[in-house]
Amino acid sequence: MALQINRAHAQHHGNDNAMTQIIVHHTTSNLTLQQYRNFFRNSKRWARDGYHYLIRKNGQIYQFTDERSRSWGAGVENATAIHIALNGNFEHQQPTAKQKKALKALIRDIATRRKIPIERVRGHGHIPGQATACPGRNLPRSVWADALQVQAKTPVSGTTHTVTAGETLGAIAQRFRVTVADLQRWNNIPNANQIRVGQVLRVSNQRTHTVVSGDTLWNLSQRFGVSVKKLKKANGLTNSKINPGRVLVIP
Ligand SMILES: [Zn+2]
Repeated sequence: MALQINRAHAQHHGNDNAMTQIIVHHTTSNLTLQQYRNFFRNSKRWARDGYHYLIRKNGQIYQFTDERSRSWGAGVENATAIHIALNGNFEHQQPTAKQKKALKALIRDIATRRKIPIERVRGHGHIPGQATACPGRNLPRSVWADALQVQAKTPVSGTTHTVTAGETLGAIAQRFRVTVADLQRWNNIPNANQIRVGQVLRVSNQRTHTVVSGDTLWNLSQRFGVSVKKLKKANGLTNSKINPGRVLVIP
């Protein structure tokens, strides 16, 4: 399931930072989105929106700052930190189930893409030198401690993957639990740093064939030396209709 993020307000402030950690915060909850954004500029007199991501009580995720740009939230750590704030005062309230689920999914997404180990995902007050109760006693580390294990238990399956913006071959390899060398070999990629957005990659060692106009199950069965019946079974086909562009597994 794709992560839904509202990026309508995401801002860039220079892309010069290598983010190596994630910091979790709580923040005042009784504000509209616009009031929330003004809060940082007016009340805190910050020059930019606070935090990279905000998770509302309904579980909706908003992005305010590009991940490569510095946002504000934890002093000296800001140069290397991606900040995630959840609406609520978790000293007194509980985060909602939807918030906790969204937090884990977001951490999983960011940490996987950026190769951030789970130890580098901390609550604001757990960072040495940051004397704060944030993100509150009801949002302990145990809420997200298994965020990356969840992924390991349910590996993404499939035989192809379409490259999206910001993805690296390393991140894709990790996601499909294969090696970068495998991906390079299966897709004839000489330089691992040269993949492009929209490129369709083969991500398993299963043989596949992308249907082109004129293909029929019968001529594919002849070409690959497998029966029509096996082709249909391997691809969950209930009839013989195959549309151009469809990727078939060749058993
Ligand atoms: Zn904080």
